[in-house]
Amino acid sequence: MNYYSLHHKSPKTTFKNAVIEGLAKDRGIYFPESITPLSKDFIDNITDYSNHEIAYEAIKQFVGDEIPTEKLKEIIANTVSFDFPVVKVDKNIGALELFHGPTMAFKDVGAKFMAQCLEYFNQDNDQEVTVLVATSGDTGGAVANGFLGAKGIKVVILYPSGKVSDIQEKQLTTLGQNITALEVDGVFDDCQEMVKTAFLDEEITRTLTSANSINVARWLPQMFYFFFAYKQLKKLNKEIVFSVPSGNFGNICAGIMAQKLGLPVKQFIASTNVNDTVPNYMAKGVYTPKPSIATISNAMDVGNPSNFIRIQELFNNSLEDLKKAFSSYSFSDDETKDTMKMIYDTSNYVADPHGAVGYLGLKKYGLTENDYGVFLETAHPVKFLDVVEETLPVKVAIPEQIKKVIDKEKVAIKASSYEDLKAFLLK
Ligand SMILES: *Cc1c(COP(=O)(O)O)cnc(C)c1O
Repeated sequence: MNYYSLHHKSPKTTFKNAVIEGLAKDRGIYFPESITPLSKDFIDNITDYSNHEIAYEAIKQFVGDEIPTEKLKEIIANTVSFDFPVVKVDKNIGALELFHGPTMAFKDVGAKFMAQCLEYFNQDNDQEVTVLVATSGDTGGAVANGFLGAKGIKVVILYPSGKVSDIQEKQLTTLGQNITALEVDGVFDDCQEMVKTAFLDEEITRTLTSANSINVARWLPQMFYFFFAYKQLKKLNKEIVFSVPSGNFGNICAGIMAQKLGLPVKQFIASTNVNDTVPNYMAKGVYTPKPSIATISNAMDVGNPSNFIRIQELFNNSLEDLKKAFSSYSFSDDETKDTMKMIYDTSNYVADPHGAVGYLGLKKYGLTENDYGVFLETAHPVKFLDVVEETLPVKVAIPEQIKKVIDKEKVAIKASSYEDLKAFLLK
């Protein structure tokens, strides 16, 4: 499968190159040249397939013949190694829990898939690849875990100092081996900008790639769990509305890809915190990126979402077409906390702040009798322990995965500007 840059100035390239490069030379992000819907038969009989088979059907055209079938199936088996249950929250609302993986965030899926693709593509190469990644919280842990021990790959993670939760910080600063954490004096957007600058810096001769959702191998496998949700809900015979708590808009964009592959979805709702660049665009038709604002759902504190351009491409850059399938709403921290309380009071369900923002999106959209609303629970409540325990009368039990890192010692290198990152990379 070939990929083109959404800036349209770099030549088309293979899946392999798109994975290794991350971003095209013209700074555009990659997009698949074609999207062929899966057979109606497959979708109609999806309950007959295992999650591994579904994932393979969904991804195979985007990989093409660049990874042998057996290897691709092995990569999928290592990636889809935990459950993705839809848990009933209201009469017609369910939480699609994506947090049962090793770092308890949905990003485990994309990170593990990408790590294995990159390791495979780089196996015959003498030169090491350096993965550079900016994180607003969960990406760092998932990438650190997914890439830990990957041969021929070094990982450098940039995170905004004081703006990720303690557990998130532990997850990305304690693993060691091929993983290094850089603690940046700034916000997430500064980290992202530093990463983008490094890619363009000709003095850096290492092979750099990114593991943000701009990388096609991190973005595309996120399609899987929309299929898994449909498989569980098909018997209800309702129209499905997905509300996705969104920051960089990679997850929701993967959902829309699943829809393009034939998955029946009535509407996608991108629910955001007060970082409302996209909701504003949907309302006013003007796209005005802004610096990010810190919120309690900090994995979505993004002022200029990288993947929105992919969503526009999926709708032929027509706002009118986009509006038919996609809505976007923004919510404040107070609304988020009130909703966490309300969900807990009415159904005893502990939602994390991101999930609560997703739930709010379903309410604002207004489900009809014939709809079933699914909000994505993108992280386990333990990842946002302070907020959850301040807001709800609960004590969150610490799961095994988290216990393993919580007492380890943080190791991070301080960085305050691009020059610090550059000095590190030139070492
Ligand atoms: C990354 C993340 C998001 C946002 O996902 P995008 O693909 O960037 O829109 C939402 N919730 C949590 C918990 C996350 O870690």
